Amino acid sequence: FDKDFGFCFFDKDMEAQIIREEQIKHELTLIEADENNGGLYLQYQPILDLKSNKVCGFEALARLKSEKLGVVSPLEFIPMAEKTKLIIPIGQKVIRQAFRFLNKLKVSGYSGLTVSINVSAIQLLRNDFNKKLFEMITEMQVNPADIGLEITESMFSDNYQEINRILGELKDSGIHIAIDDFGTGYSSLARERELHVSSLKIDKYFIDKLVSLKDERDVTSDIISMAHKLGHCVIAEGVEHEKQRQYLTNYGCDKIQGYLISKPLNEEAAIDILKNQTIKNNDCHSNDSRY
Ligand code: C2E
Ligand code: MG
Ligand code: MG
Ligand code: MG
Repeated sequence: FDKDFGFCFFDKDMEAQIIREEQIKHELTLIEADENNGGLYLQYQPILDLKSNKVCGFEALARLKSEKLGVVSPLEFIPMAEKTKLIIPIGQKVIRQAFRFLNKLKVSGYSGLTVSINVSAIQLLRNDFNKKLFEMITEMQVNPADIGLEITESMFSDNYQEINRILGELKDSGIHIAIDDFGTGYSSLARERELHVSSLKIDKYFIDKLVSLKDERDVTSDIISMAHKLGHCVIAEGVEHEKQRQYLTNYGCDKIQGYLISKPLNEEAAIDILKNQTIKNNDCHSNDSRY
């Protein structure tokens, strides 16, 4: 065997990776100019309110589809969009698309549901982020109380004061702010007190270990009770098994999201889920003081 074979193979792998990255970057540049958003589209994952046992909202999740690459995960293309700053125009497109879906829900007869949108740090820290968002809210006539923004915990490691000021302004307008992937990163519950957020989303990491590990169970139950003391709503991410739902219900968790309820869906399928629920107009945030 050629002793260089290993290196050769490695180079080929790297080369393929570089070509893939270039293709994705190219697809990302096509999104901005295209009225139809290029290969960008959103899927919507239902969030279930444990008290009413009804879907009370959706998380909007971005996907990128191209002929060459098929469907690319946001775990791959969002970091690239962030690095190239293309996340700024792409993020605007995501918000616009999510607002359109909100209006579609309204036209279909469903009100009081929240659509949550993931926002990157560099997007939020642009000094015109709030202004542009408020303009779009007015233009598209959406209710701020129907909008959720999800900010990952790791964003608070830098620019804590500035981010919290921006969040305060958003929260004052009625928009719901959630800390995403809670428990894995930087923020501490002690500091949640001063954060302008309305909910915490417990990361899948803890949910995965709920059934098997007592320590993780204790952490989850502590997060829930502390969050409630601070007046926050708690959402569990990545719930896949009935047993996990039972633990979370017992701990007083407010909402769950995960494959147990549904995978992320296209608009039509998302609306179908609502149709199959008996009561329309399930307004689950108006009477929930914690949200
Ligand atoms: P996230 O915001 O924490 O979203 C939850 C992720 O968990 C989604 O992955 C969702 O499909 C997945 N998930 C939900 N339930 C389950 C489950 O029961 N089991 C498993 N295994 N997975 C589950 P997805 O769609 O691949 O998104 C990954 C991440 O990409 C998101 O994590 C978010 O941080 C980021 N992202 C997605 N869309 C956007 C966007 O429009 N803008 C920004 N800035 N980031 C986005
Ligand atoms: Mg999220
Ligand atoms: Mg998350
Ligand atoms: Mg995540």
